[in-house]
Amino acid sequence: MKQKKLLYTGKAKSVYLTEKKETLIVEFRDDITAFDGGKKDTLKNKGSYNAGVSAFFFSYLERNGVKTHFLEMLDNNRMAVRNLSMIPLEVIVRNFAAGSIVRNYPFKEGVPLNPPVIVIDYKDDSRHDPMLNDDLIIALKLVTPTELKKIKKIALKVNGLLLDLLSKEGIKLVDFKIEFGRQSSAIYLGDEISMDSMRLWDKKTGESLDKDVYRFNKGDVMATYNRVAERITRNTHVSKKNREVSKKLNSGGNKIKNPPRKQTVKKQ
Ligand code: C5P
Repeated sequence: MKQKKLLYTGKAKSVYLTEKKETLIVEFRDDITAFDGGKKDTLKNKGSYNAGVSAFFFSYLERNGVKTHFLEMLDNNRMAVRNLSMIPLEVIVRNFAAGSIVRNYPFKEGVPLNPPVIVIDYKDDSRHDPMLNDDLIIALKLVTPTELKKIKKIALKVNGLLLDLLSKEGIKLVDFKIEFGRQSSAIYLGDEISMDSMRLWDKKTGESLDKDVYRFNKGDVMATYNRVAERITRNTHVSKKNREVSKKLNSGGNKIKNPPRKQTVKKQ
């Protein structure tokens, strides 16, 4: 697949055209940002961890009947995806209270939200992604009422599938954000699902295993991303490859300094 013109640069990803109109390439860069871009850094190999974990989750969701934009990994940082017309909504599913809903509402941090709470924000940095409600979403014509129902249903299905998978690895899925897009009239899951877009807590220790480590200077974010990527993908061939390379890199030490040279996750 040939990478052509740069189409779009986001805070941590770049999107390129390809020779095929219906296919794009997403490059996960090593940039990390928080607080609307107020905090920024470049962390070596960060992009490859998020690309690998996203590819793993997208493949898992596809196998379980969720349509995603993921086609295949091209190398450690680049993913071929369906060319979607993105819907400017950030769909957040919350299983436990944390982050902005604790700041904005009288929830105690960590309290279970059962049933899960879906919060939908308008994706617009200049407006600081304001929260929407169903009437606003329809009035703004961002989606039709049928699409909105479908998006919420998919979000809950994704939540159930991710909860299951992460729970087996001893990880609590506190919340996550997903985005959707259209190709023809079908709705697909787009963007990424990674440590940047989820809030994950270790079930035993309560330790943060996600971007909160970076947001709130809780420790070495790359060491965390490395450990959580390994933990999440441990039963896949990607992980086997990770482990082989990690072993080589780590002989004599216990820190992985580089991710695997090549990882290929093909859609199944
Ligand atoms: O900050 P807040 O608590 O609203 O975030 C909820 C979840 O959505 C977190 O997992 C966060 O990482 C994710 N999120 C995101 N991108 C945003 C806003 C939130 O990935 N722009």
